[in-house]
Amino acid sequence: MTGVFDAAALANRATSALRAYDPGHDLPALRRRFGAVISELGSNENPLGPSRLATQAATRVLEEMWRYPDPSGKSLKERLSSELGVPLAGITLGNGSHELLMLLAQCFADADHPVVFSQYGFAVFPIAAAAAGAPGIAVPALPADHPEAPYGHDLDAIAAAVTPTTRLIYLANPNNPTGTWFTDAALEAFLERVPDETIVVVDEAYHEYVDAAGLSTALHLLGRFPNLVVTRTFSKAHGLAGLRIGYMLSHPSVAAVCERLRESFNVNVVALAAAEAALGDHEHRARVREVNRRDRAWLTGELTAHGMRVLPSQTNFLLVDLGRDAASFEAHLFERAVIVRPMGGYRLPDTVRISIGSRAELQRLLENLP
Ligand SMILES: *Cc1c(COP(=O)(O)O)cnc(C)c1O
Repeated sequence: MTGVFDAAALANRATSALRAYDPGHDLPALRRRFGAVISELGSNENPLGPSRLATQAATRVLEEMWRYPDPSGKSLKERLSSELGVPLAGITLGNGSHELLMLLAQCFADADHPVVFSQYGFAVFPIAAAAAGAPGIAVPALPADHPEAPYGHDLDAIAAAVTPTTRLIYLANPNNPTGTWFTDAALEAFLERVPDETIVVVDEAYHEYVDAAGLSTALHLLGRFPNLVVTRTFSKAHGLAGLRIGYMLSHPSVAAVCERLRESFNVNVVALAAAEAALGDHEHRARVREVNRRDRAWLTGELTAHGMRVLPSQTNFLLVDLGRDAASFEAHLFERAVIVRPMGGYRLPDTVRISIGSRAELQRLLENLP
């Protein structure tokens, strides 16, 4: 061996274009330092936690951890199928919806078949394109002063960016980190403009929280547009982020292609059981939705009264535009055990994203604002 070994020079072309995930602060270390008074408002987790039915189901199946999980996840898929009215063959389960978003690009995009997404779209979209070795086209977002969707998806511009070789479009509705959304009718008009050969992925990670006029879900368009794919997660409203489980609804042929590359046991025994039980707890879901709706409105009012610009949100977080670099704001809160997420990584350096945590967490945020 001459010289210094560095595997970075050996990484393949796609991996060379990537950087490792920035996990933000070391949360386990912060929990040790601050204890119970920490306000964790950086990751959009559910402050109410999961359904008790999910916890009980998870605990029960722990004894089966020595067995491999059902590789088809059939029992959960049957539950999803009856709950959502979609055929079993159009359901794919993932180790979080993150895995499914990556899988779609792996299966459908390549160097000759670009991927299109919005500027300020969810961070996984450009990563999925790059990992597949595909060109990622970031379409300029709506302007910062747009009345309905500041920094949001510009569906007209996205449709205009599609060429005959575009294989995949990623949309998030509502979007993270902007919190913005587009209506069902706008999506329908968009799908009518996109060629059949372009797969349109609508990431509905925050679906359970939406209540705006004209916004429900892309699900009922699946029958009419076989190139439409909808992804969802158990990480947010279902409160199962730590178990890593999400799902995808698509034309059966899209699911069949993804099945070729999906790791056979990608979803574990505990996640399968907890997710199935969580789906059955309509009461918990309604409560999560109601508490979030109430506290989202309340926090928006409080921050606005504090002179901040809060962007409209249909999610369990708020994007706050400070009109100046957010680094010192974030550092000030951090020193007081209030964790919010700066958005410099999205090239939105003047903004922070704040999750709708528990009332106690949000009170500490308000008490500690600079
Ligand atoms: C949180 C989030 C996800 C969910 O990721 P999981 O891998 O399912 O935890 C997906 N898309 C968006 C836009 C998100 O904000």
